Amino acid sequence: MSGSSVMDLVHNISSDLFLDKFWGCEKNESAAGCAADRGNIYRQATDLYFLYTTGGVLMYLIPATLDYYFLFDHKWMKHDKWIPGQIRLEMEVALKSLPIMSLLMTVVTLFEMRVHSQFYDDVSDYGLPYFFFSIVVFVMFTDCLVYWFHRWLHLPFLYKHIHKPHHRWKVASPFASHAFHPIDGFVQGLPYHLAALVFPMHRVLWLCLFGLVNMWTVSIHDGYFNVPNWKWARWLVNGAAHHVDHHLFFNYNYGQYFTIWDRIGGSYMYPTMMEGAKDQNRVLDPGPIKRVADSSFCGVSAKKLKHSKAD
Ligand SMILES: [Zn+2]
Ligand SMILES: [Zn+2]
Repeated sequence: MSGSSVMDLVHNISSDLFLDKFWGCEKNESAAGCAADRGNIYRQATDLYFLYTTGGVLMYLIPATLDYYFLFDHKWMKHDKWIPGQIRLEMEVALKSLPIMSLLMTVVTLFEMRVHSQFYDDVSDYGLPYFFFSIVVFVMFTDCLVYWFHRWLHLPFLYKHIHKPHHRWKVASPFASHAFHPIDGFVQGLPYHLAALVFPMHRVLWLCLFGLVNMWTVSIHDGYFNVPNWKWARWLVNGAAHHVDHHLFFNYNYGQYFTIWDRIGGSYMYPTMMEGAKDQNRVLDPGPIKRVADSSFCGVSAKKLKHSKAD
């Protein structure tokens, strides 16, 4: 078994730029007075925690702020279910969770770095066809696990103790994207780390796909339902219109990128915003809901999940 992580790359670049100086080390790591070199586990843990907390704040606030100003339809803030001061509340939940999530991520990353992962750096190690094939496998793998982890988070006990803070926002804004209980955020990010334990992933590719899902998470909370804007893609892609209904009606549309697992799991609901509703308040009254029949999978039935209503 051998380990490496995407964070090795980030750690080395950050060390070159400023972390070596902080620890009193030269770039060759042999200077007298070097408190801990890059391979020291305590330094790695400290550095990773610092990188995750600061990086996490930036990866949350920058895309959410840009989305809020350029895509988010501010009419949502006039919706009956909008909470006064909601943006501030969403930021509070997200920023309070981040330090705890970072701690959990640090432990997982140390495992990847020091024990086992299947990251690789050279495309020629597995060839270009595998490089592209791994994108498909990675997206399918994470899409499946994110769906089921999210769906299990709607079981009554887990919903009450872990997932409910994210459903406080009946109508979300881009700032709700990371406003989770820390364990909730960690669990929904876990499939990304599990993937790299199970099959070979190019490190830079993984980093790009992780950045992409971070932006997608912001995007599905902005209520801007023209992404995607093609009819066929709307059938396949779980966009903001689908996630609007997840926040309003709870037990539908748990998916990440695609609607596939919602269709298989019997939790798919055709978005009310695409039923011809032009007015956001129309989504309070779903009207005739087109969804597939109730079904059970992995011991969790859609009917059982009805208990996960908020409050
Ligand atoms: Zn949910
Ligand atoms: Zn959400």
